[in-house]
Amino acid sequence: MSSISELYQSVILDHNRSPKNYRRMADGNCTANGRNPLCGDELTVWLKLDGERIEDAAFEGSGCAISRASASLMTTAVKGKTRPEAEELFDRFHRLVTGRLPGDEVASLGKLAVFSGVSAYPVRVKCASLPWHTFKAALDAPAGAARQQPIA
Ligand code: ZN
Repeated sequence: MSSISELYQSVILDHNRSPKNYRRMADGNCTANGRNPLCGDELTVWLKLDGERIEDAAFEGSGCAISRASASLMTTAVKGKTRPEAEELFDRFHRLVTGRLPGDEVASLGKLAVFSGVSAYPVRVKCASLPWHTFKAALDAPAGAARQQPIA
């Protein structure tokens, strides 16, 4: 089965080398920062929400290959989804990386399944889930709303 893990590894390395959606989003309406002190990963996630639908997602930051690849695949996966669909996907992804997703459900995650191997490495679980936690924080922190806070 080494060819499968090699394939997974090459997907992660590809996304680390040339991550998708790696840019600062000027017209996003939600944003959050995330940090994983265990590894030193840091990233910012931007979202453009149209009502309940995620129109666009982007990120920037520095970190290890796992966190960058995860952010690349996460931003790709949530684009076009509604908030409940994306939250359900996060739940399934989180169960995957913590080794709690039944084997027959792994394929339903598509490319995100490349992270199934991290469940054996607790430190790496944090790297893979950081972009998703940051995404969730962005969903709950509309940038517009924050700017509208009255200045005391
Ligand atoms: Zn990391």
